[in-house]
Amino acid sequence: MLASKITVPLPKLKNRNVIKPLLCGAGPCDVWPSVSEALSKPTLSPICDEYYNVIDDIRNGLKYLFQTKCELVLAMSGSGHSGMEATITNLVGPNETMLIAARGIWDERALDIAQRYNINVIPIRVPLKVTFSLERIETELKKWKPTALFITHGDSSTGTVQRLEGLGELCHKYGTLLIVDTVVSLGGVPFLMDEWGVDAAYASTQKVLSGPAGISPVAFSERAEQKINNRKHQPPFYFDIKLLAQQWNCYGNTRVYHHTLSAPLLWALRQCIHEICQRTLPMRWKAHADVVAHFHKRLQENGFKLLIPKPEDRLATVTTVVLPEGYDYIKFVKYMREYYNIMILAGLGPTEGKALRIGLMGVNATTQVADTVADAMAGTLTALTKSSL
Ligand code: PMP
Repeated sequence: MLASKITVPLPKLKNRNVIKPLLCGAGPCDVWPSVSEALSKPTLSPICDEYYNVIDDIRNGLKYLFQTKCELVLAMSGSGHSGMEATITNLVGPNETMLIAARGIWDERALDIAQRYNINVIPIRVPLKVTFSLERIETELKKWKPTALFITHGDSSTGTVQRLEGLGELCHKYGTLLIVDTVVSLGGVPFLMDEWGVDAAYASTQKVLSGPAGISPVAFSERAEQKINNRKHQPPFYFDIKLLAQQWNCYGNTRVYHHTLSAPLLWALRQCIHEICQRTLPMRWKAHADVVAHFHKRLQENGFKLLIPKPEDRLATVTTVVLPEGYDYIKFVKYMREYYNIMILAGLGPTEGKALRIGLMGVNATTQVADTVADAMAGTLTALTKSSL
């Protein structure tokens, strides 16, 4: 008996009871109740009709969310970073050039990823609190004529939204593909992939879609498809969109097995899409805009300042907030969790020690949640008097 060979003892797993917090950081966000239910639907084999029907539903729904008529639309197994890595490595090969319009931490991640694949990266930066002008980007596109430009639409580290209208056209003028991170914007802020000439976009379920992390929608334009079909380099096997397109049946009746996708996550993503489609995109965009306007008003009445000066640069889904002089950001976040069971986040990357990051998105984009968070923040400000700092 090999039982006598067991030398590592059985682990003792404690009961881990969690009192669910209200998730109002920059992500993850709370999930729709119907998405929690969808997570317990039957596990499906990746080679059965029921599974094929679910992935067909997801592809159709994602075309609506991204607003694209292109066929190369699917979801990566992995969190938002997998979409980032997949879009970059499928479109830009070693020794090709990628321009990165960097204004937050996610662009720095893209830079790190690209360097690992020997892509020549050219970062351009703007000061904290502002976004890029198209003129600035055009100057750089003209100078470098890169294979791709990487840019983040909604940036959850600075709380800014980048204007994208006209950028696709500019990129194409210089033979450049446009890659856009929509992780914290898709579904909450207008995004029109085809209209704006975006060539690759990726998102994540844990933000505005109000689902669990772990599956990342991606979409590629026809221009991007041509690059994929003619490229000389091999992207990582797990992220190879050519192979995944066959599994996701993007071009007809292929349905080739590539890897075993998580059935609970597929069911969950399908349900997230359903929740948004029931309400429609314009209504979701309006809901986020209205709720954040109300939230900003409440914050300013209570002595908080918004980090981003220009209203048109402020991201509707994630707000960056400056505390009055002398307050500690980490203590503030801790107090909100301990006394109100509300999870907000401190600054990250360029906003570390400079701002709070508060997300009112997806299922939490309601006036009621905005008021709950604003009241708790006012209470925290009073409780953490300067004398106790
Ligand atoms: N991009 C943006 C804008 C994000 O906010 C995040 C996550 N906070 C990511 C990318 C990475 O996504 P994930 O953590 O799901 O991998």
